[in-house]
Amino acid sequence: MTLHVAIIGAGPAGFYAAEALATKGEDVMVDLIDRLPTPHGLIRSGVAPDHQTTKRVTKKYDQTAARENVRYVGNVSLGRDVTMDQLRELYDAVVIAFGAEGDRPLGVPGEDKEGVLGSFAFVGWYNGHPDFVDLDIDLNVGDVAVIGNGNVALDCARLLARTEDEMKASDLTEEAGEVLFNSAVKDVHLIGRRGPVEASFSIAEMREMGELQRGISLVHDAQIPDSLPDGMDPKEARARKAVLEVLQSFRGNQRDAAPVGVHFEFFLRPVEILGEDRVTGIRVERTRLEDGKAVGTGDIFDIPCGMVISCIGYLSQPVDGLPMEYGKVSNDQGRVAPGVYVVGWAKRGPSGTIGTNRPDAQDVVGLLLEDMAGGSGKSGGPGLDTLLTERGIRKVTYGEWLVIDTAEQERAGPDAPRRKFITIPDMLSVVDES
Ligand SMILES: Cc1cc2nc3c(=O)[nH]c(=O)nc-3n(C[C@H](O)[C@H](O)[C@H](O)COP(=O)(O)OP(=O)(O)OC[C@H]3O[C@@H](n4cnc5c(N)ncnc54)[C@H](O)[C@@H]3O)c2cc1C
Repeated sequence: MTLHVAIIGAGPAGFYAAEALATKGEDVMVDLIDRLPTPHGLIRSGVAPDHQTTKRVTKKYDQTAARENVRYVGNVSLGRDVTMDQLRELYDAVVIAFGAEGDRPLGVPGEDKEGVLGSFAFVGWYNGHPDFVDLDIDLNVGDVAVIGNGNVALDCARLLARTEDEMKASDLTEEAGEVLFNSAVKDVHLIGRRGPVEASFSIAEMREMGELQRGISLVHDAQIPDSLPDGMDPKEARARKAVLEVLQSFRGNQRDAAPVGVHFEFFLRPVEILGEDRVTGIRVERTRLEDGKAVGTGDIFDIPCGMVISCIGYLSQPVDGLPMEYGKVSNDQGRVAPGVYVVGWAKRGPSGTIGTNRPDAQDVVGLLLEDMAGGSGKSGGPGLDTLLTERGIRKVTYGEWLVIDTAEQERAGPDAPRRKFITIPDMLSVVDES
């Protein structure tokens, strides 16, 4: 009997799980359900708009979606349009792949002030995620603090410093471009609790920080060591050395060399966000490393800034009927409950690259197929369709997404890959007009 599987979330993890299920040679039907009309998760709404090569992986996902036993069901949200209980009733197995769509709080007083936001929101805003297009981003400020020492922090800092010319071949939304290119931002403070050796920057993103047309990267020379500490794992050491070399090349850079300064501020941790209603600065404490951990030294001072973007990680959003812990769906190697599985960031938390989600999804699908000998006569997709029709919910098919995709490409500027539709009504109108 056909095994009916619903995958919730059409980001990388969802697509890799669908591909693994669809190609196992079993009699399987997969519904890949996403809350947005547009698929691809953070590849569309997270990966930086000036990193188009990275986004090309979606061509592979098109092949998955074209398989006879895979069906994309967009614009349907678990929790809002359909419940876990309903899905378990309709499908033999449910695979959660809904990522981690909430910003981890900084956990310091004052973080609710205006002008303080997380990177999920800020990145979503410049990438045209419908949830964040109405965000009131006020860049009429001279200084911005970006908290975190990973690639997302570099993405945010870079986007604040980029020129219109540098972004012309990107899919940055017109609306965000308007704000970013006319911003008053002069100094970006990239704040990390630990040091340059511990920072989890990747080499490609790091190199870009040395090639900004109107930005200059600045370091405190004394914070940048000449070499790595002894005893590091050789593979890790290779990656860290490359990053360190770029930071070393920033030594001696002068603030007046470019209109925008990007200040790498290592060994600082935020202790308070300052200001009345709106942020006016960030209070930080100097740290030092003890057994690899950052501990406060009691040396506290303020950095004035009109905006704070925290890039310190993400938490999965709770949904009724799913056990959660530590911002993830509770699981044992991907098993959540009988017939319920989890993959991707919802399973592991927000770490790793797009490719990390592939073996992870394959492993979990392996367990699923081990657990399920075959289908049990459940209705699957047709049952979902009946439920959606009864509830007046309009689903979007992959063919309809391709209509949106084509329309976005057709209305793009001469160098840009696409100009995104950024509201759900606009996306649906394009489909209706086709
Ligand atoms: C800012 C940023 C930049 C990044 N840049 C890179 C990069 O350059 N290179 C790289 O390799 N990796 C990058 N990554 C990491 C990469 O994006 C992740 O590894 C990957 O997207 C995680 O896949 P996922 O499928 O678990 O989650 P997601 O990509 O988040 O996909 C989750 C999907 O679930 C859907 N969803 C959520 N809730 C529901 C619900 N209730 N019902 C139905 N659907 C739902 C969402 O709409 C989304 O489509 C970046 C991440 C971020 C945050």
